[in-house]
Amino acid sequence: MKICPRCEKETLEDEQVLNSLSRRGDVYICNPCGDEEALIDSGNMAPNEIEIAFSAKLQSEPDLP
Ligand SMILES: [Zn+2]
Repeated sequence: MKICPRCEKETLEDEQVLNSLSRRGDVYICNPCGDEEALIDSGNMAPNEIEIAFSAKLQSEPDLP
C-alpha cells in the first residue's frame, strides 16, 4: 500500500479513484488531506505545516507518483 504523499501518514487505497486528487497538482492524496485542501481553498482553514510543506514539495518534484 502506498502512503499519502501529503501527510505521509495515511495509506492510499489501491484503487486511485477512491483517493482524492490533490488541488495542488496531479497527485493522489488521502481523503482527509483532500478535505483539508478543500477547507483551505474555501478559506475555512488556515494553511498548516503539512499544506505548506506539500506545496513546496510539489513545486520541487512535480512528477511525484
Ligand atoms: Zn494525507
